[in-house]
Amino acid sequence: MSKYWGNIVEKLMPYTPGEQPKDLDLLKLNTNENPFGPSPRVLNEIKKNCKDHLRLYPDPESLELKKSLAEHHNLSRESVFVSNGSDESLAFIFQALLKKDKPILFPDITYSFYPVYCQLYEIKYEQIPLDQNFNINLDDYLVENGGIIFPNPNAPTGIPKSLKDVEGLLINNNHSVIVVDEAYVDFGTSSAIKLINKYENLIVTQSFSKGRSLAGMRLGCAFANPNLIEALNRIKNSFNSYPIDRLAQTSAIASIADGVYFEENCNKVIEARLYLQEQLKIMEFDILPSGANFIFTKHKNVSGKNLFNELRKNKILVRHFNSPERISNYLRITIGTMNQMHKLVSVIKEIVK
Ligand SMILES: *Cc1c(COP(=O)(O)O)cnc(C)c1O
Repeated sequence: MSKYWGNIVEKLMPYTPGEQPKDLDLLKLNTNENPFGPSPRVLNEIKKNCKDHLRLYPDPESLELKKSLAEHHNLSRESVFVSNGSDESLAFIFQALLKKDKPILFPDITYSFYPVYCQLYEIKYEQIPLDQNFNINLDDYLVENGGIIFPNPNAPTGIPKSLKDVEGLLINNNHSVIVVDEAYVDFGTSSAIKLINKYENLIVTQSFSKGRSLAGMRLGCAFANPNLIEALNRIKNSFNSYPIDRLAQTSAIASIADGVYFEENCNKVIEARLYLQEQLKIMEFDILPSGANFIFTKHKNVSGKNLFNELRKNKILVRHFNSPERISNYLRITIGTMNQMHKLVSVIKEIVK
């Protein structure tokens, strides 16, 4: 604290991202990165663009990138927004579309950045408890609200909602903005992007960090009716004209062009997820159903904290949340390559035996 600080800074409790260890020997299964590198076409484009014209500012509107995303999703370019990671899209959405007189709604167990944005932008919120099976029950959201946001699949549970359920919410809540955070949609969950032309209050965010192996590039996007996108553009152009650098713009375009590579990797992750689920079940773990590139699981006898520590001793890093109490026995484990999952399973076998 300091007498020079502004009023908001003093009370802020920032988001803490998962550890990025210096020790490269660690098997890193803690921040849901993709175990496979970006497409060779992406790396090639980056190399081609590492030249003198980096002295020039990038296209402030990322028009080529928006065009390729629009074509990819069969939308107009005015329905597309791009940002420095999807966290930035979310931040702008909170600021531009969710700051209302009535409180906004999100699950009590979800992406822990949401309450941080609410604090930063002074937005009132209410947390709706997950049901006894850790599901988001969207009927619980049919109350007065200034907006609704949830990830699909949810984090850190990994549990997906069907498109039918998401549309049910849109049909019954047409007075406020509904944000679907699809950071993990690429691993077998249906996207609500198809509903954008039908519901003017829907906005969907996606990320290049997980399915597209570009967490290090910081790229995200949002899709909605042009009217909602215009609100985000106003915030963006009042904050930073050039959020997406030249290399990020070309990488993203190349990544979208190489759909085959992307789909193959997502399928490999889904296959490794199935393997890990089967093996953990045999070792008496409870595993929540996952539509993401991670699973949320707890053992019958060994506590989450002990498992986390024992894995760490064996140079495997996973994510453990101390609070809330209800999830403190669970671990969130990122799905890696099949080889990495074999190694993880053999280490866990030793710990729980
Ligand atoms: C990873 C993640 C994000 C942010 O992704 P970036 O594009 O890397 O900023 C957003 N929402 C959820 C639920 C996530 O897990």
